[in-house]
Amino acid sequence: MIRSGMLTAAGPAKRPREVVDLRSDTVTEPTPEMYERMCLAPTGDDGLDGDPTARQLEVAAAEKVGKEAGLFVPSCTMANLIAACLHARRAKQVVLEATSHMYTAEREGAIFANAFYVPVPGSAGAMDLDLLSEAIEGNNARLRTGMVGLETSHNSAGGTVLPLHHMADVQRIAAARDIRVHLDGARLFNAATHLEVLPDAIARHCDTVSLCLSKGLSAPVGAVLAGDRDFIENARVLRRALGGQQRQVGVVAAAGLVALESMASRLAEDHVRASRLSAGLRSIGSALRASSPQTNIVMVDVSETPHSAELWVRALFEKGILVRRWSNSQLRCVTHRHIGDEDVQRAVGAFAEVSAVEQLEEKQSA
Ligand SMILES: *Cc1c(COP(=O)(O)O)cnc(C)c1O
Repeated sequence: MIRSGMLTAAGPAKRPREVVDLRSDTVTEPTPEMYERMCLAPTGDDGLDGDPTARQLEVAAAEKVGKEAGLFVPSCTMANLIAACLHARRAKQVVLEATSHMYTAEREGAIFANAFYVPVPGSAGAMDLDLLSEAIEGNNARLRTGMVGLETSHNSAGGTVLPLHHMADVQRIAAARDIRVHLDGARLFNAATHLEVLPDAIARHCDTVSLCLSKGLSAPVGAVLAGDRDFIENARVLRRALGGQQRQVGVVAAAGLVALESMASRLAEDHVRASRLSAGLRSIGSALRASSPQTNIVMVDVSETPHSAELWVRALFEKGILVRRWSNSQLRCVTHRHIGDEDVQRAVGAFAEVSAVEQLEEKQSA
């Protein structure tokens, strides 16, 4: 769908608007300001004496989350993997909320971390604290735990934000047993926006944190891992071992700097539109059950409709609306910088049309 238009300092040709792409906030394109900074970024060899722009990004990101140091990495997946590898070094368990991204989408990382990834059930993305304690020191916890992972906002739980008191509780449980807490903050800025706090007010409840620059913040690629100086020094070595060390990486880090400096302030807009989308879907009828979003993700339960999630995805696609099948009965819709008010209306309209067709079909077959 994206034209490979000429890249100039002003950015690529505007992407065509015929589709409403609610699949993910990862589809956001770099901004014109990002392209400008990329062209002007001072660069160096990040494997030799360092890339000044990458260094600037690392310092800026660490400061935002209130940590001593940062490390620019190609993806948030690599940031989380490095954290698991380092925290689980002399232990064998990495304990995670059962529906977290690190468990559902990244747990093959266990191969590299040489540790078991242990899922702990929870609700709205928050682990049950009794079950967490059980996983760490219950009868079946024969291995030592090196890391407890948190995720906020929580992707699979529909973009829900962990309450700070929950994070403080997890921190207390972990610290009492000399266990590190890592925060998968791929969408930390969405969480901060929802809570109306600065990111460091959230990140203070963890030892290390990862940030994704290429989701709602619109950078083309990249993530940052942050923690204390020692940890980041070790992380830098591991990043190299994993093939994540890059050379004139300032070209992309420059876009990350713009993401960090000026893109978080617009996330509230995405949250408002997600709420409108949810309200619009609820107004269609009772069969479609849309979650009430705290951030930019709306989960739509279609199990009360005659069609599977798969069929919904196809029917909506034919109307120019792109959504993600999340399970047999669930769709995920994500708002982002390229979703305006009209796009929300179009999406609601398309859902209504597909619903109407379904009701008709049901009547005919009844
Ligand atoms: C997208 C995502 C990741 C992985 O980020 P990449 O940059 O795509 O590797 C990790 N955790 C969560 C919660 C995510 O949503």
